[in-house]
Amino acid sequence: MSSAKPAIPTPLTDLKIQYTKIFINNEWHDSVSGKKFPVINPATEEIICEVEEGDKADVDKAVKAARQAFQIGSPWRTMDASERGRLLYKLADLIERDRLLLATMEVINAGKVFSSTYLMEMELSINGLRYFAGWADKIQGRTIPIDGDFFTYTRREPIGVCGQIIAWNFPLILLVWKIGSALSCGNTVILKPAEQTPLTALHVASLIIEAGFPPGVVNIVPGYGPTAGAAISSHMDIDKVAFTGSTEVGKIIKEAAGKSNLKRVTLELGGKSPCIVFADADLDTAVESAHVGLFFHQGQCCVAASRLFVEETIYDEFVQRSVERAKKYVLGNPLTPGVNHGPQIDKEQHNKILDLIESGKKQGAKLELGGGPWGKKGYFIQPTVFSNVTDEMRIAKEEIFGPVQQIMKFKSLDEVIKRANNTTYGLAAGVFTKDLDKAVMVSSALQAGTVWVNCYGGGGMQCPFGGYKMSGNGRELGEEGFHEYTEIKTVTMKISQKNS
Ligand code: ADP
Repeated sequence: MSSAKPAIPTPLTDLKIQYTKIFINNEWHDSVSGKKFPVINPATEEIICEVEEGDKADVDKAVKAARQAFQIGSPWRTMDASERGRLLYKLADLIERDRLLLATMEVINAGKVFSSTYLMEMELSINGLRYFAGWADKIQGRTIPIDGDFFTYTRREPIGVCGQIIAWNFPLILLVWKIGSALSCGNTVILKPAEQTPLTALHVASLIIEAGFPPGVVNIVPGYGPTAGAAISSHMDIDKVAFTGSTEVGKIIKEAAGKSNLKRVTLELGGKSPCIVFADADLDTAVESAHVGLFFHQGQCCVAASRLFVEETIYDEFVQRSVERAKKYVLGNPLTPGVNHGPQIDKEQHNKILDLIESGKKQGAKLELGGGPWGKKGYFIQPTVFSNVTDEMRIAKEEIFGPVQQIMKFKSLDEVIKRANNTTYGLAAGVFTKDLDKAVMVSSALQAGTVWVNCYGGGGMQCPFGGYKMSGNGRELGEEGFHEYTEIKTVTMKISQKNS
C-alpha cells in the first residue's frame, strides 16, 4: 500500500547557491589548479554559478582523506554498524528537511519537471537512504560445515575506498543511492558528480557534516570526466569504482581499472529497451505506460522504453493513441507552473538527439509528431513520435536519450523475442498482455536485467538493478547491491579435540 503523497508546494523563488567548492575531509577546498567551471541552467542557457574544478591533484587529496578515514581503529572503522545506520537515517531526515530546496535546485540545474522531482525523485532519495540505513547492521556472513575439525565462517567486510562517478539525469537519486550502499557496508567514498549537475551533491555534502559523519568518510569532487573521472578510475589507491553513465565511458572505466590496480568495477550503463505490446493487452494501460516509459524526464532515462514493438492487428490504433498522448505536453521553463516537459540537459545532447531525428526522417520512418527543436532559448526538443520504424534504422538501434518514440510492428511471438533481443544492450524490457503464460514465457526469454509486465518503470531500491550484455556489470540496490560493496572473507579455525 502506498503512503499519502505530500502536497506540492511552489518551487523556491529566492534559491541561493551556497556550496560551490570541493568537499574533502568535511571541509571545503579550492581546486589545486585554481580552475572553476560554469554550471548552466538548461532551460535558459544562463550560468547559475561557477564551481571549483577538481582534477587529479584534488582526487589524490580526497583519496588520502578517504584512506585515513578507513584505517583500522579509525572512528568510522570502530563505529557500531547500527550507528552507521543511524547516521544514514539522520542524513535522510536532513534531506527531507531540505526537500523543497533540493527539488528546486535539481529543477534549475537538471531541467527537471518540478512536481515529479518534488514528489517522486525526492521520495526515492529519502526512502532510498532509509532503506540503506536499515541494512547497516544486517549485512551478515554464514557458518559453513566443512569437512574435518574446523569452525568456518564468512565475514562480509567493506571493500575500502570507493570511487563513484555518476551521470546527470538523476543527480540526487544516483548520489544518495551510491553513497548509501557504500556507507551502509562501512566503506569510504570519493564521489564525482556529472559536470553538468554538481549542485545537489554539494548541498548534500553540507548535510554530511551536519549529520555527524566522521571526516573523510564522504568526499565529493566535482569536475570533468576525462580529468577527475579518469583520475578516480585509474587511481592505485581506490579499491572499487562504481559508475553510472554511457556504455562508451563504461568501457574506458573498466579498462582503466584493469590497467591500474584491478579495482572492483560495477557499471550501470545505457540501454535500448524493448517494450512489447500484444494485441490482447489492455490498450489504455499499454499506451500510457509505454508513453511515460519513454517520455519521462524528456526521455533521459537509461531504462527508457525506446524500442516499442506493437502487434500488427492493433498497430494503427496504438500509433494514433500514442500521438494523441504525446501532444498533451506543455513545454517551457520547468519552474513555471503547469509546465510538464523541460529541456534536454545540454547543447551536446540536444544536437545529438536532433541528428538522430534527422536520420529517422532520412531512413524512411514516418514522422507522426514533433521532429525538431522548440523555443528560442534552452535545449528544448518537441515530443516526437515515429511510426513505421524498422530494426536497421539508427533510431531503432542507438540510444537517443531524448523525447523520441519509435513504434515498430510485429506479427508473431517468436519473431518479436528475437528482434527484442537483437541488441548489444540488455537493461530493461516491458511486456503487455493479459495472457499469463505469454507474460511468463516472454519475460523469461528477454535478455534484460529488469522486465516489467503490464507496467513500465516501477520498482525501487529494494530490487537488484543492472544490465545484461553491454548495459552493465554487476547489480546495484537490493541485497545483491550490498554484495558489490563487500569483500567476502572465509575464516577457518582448527578445533582442538583435547577435551572430547
Ligand atoms: P553521458 O553520455 O550521459 O553524458 P557520460 O558517460 O559521458 O554520460 O558521463 C557520465 C559520467 O562519467 C560523468 O560524471 C562524466 O564526467 C564521467 N566521465 C566521462 N568521461 C569519463 C572518463 N573518461 N573517465 C571517467 N569518467 C568519465
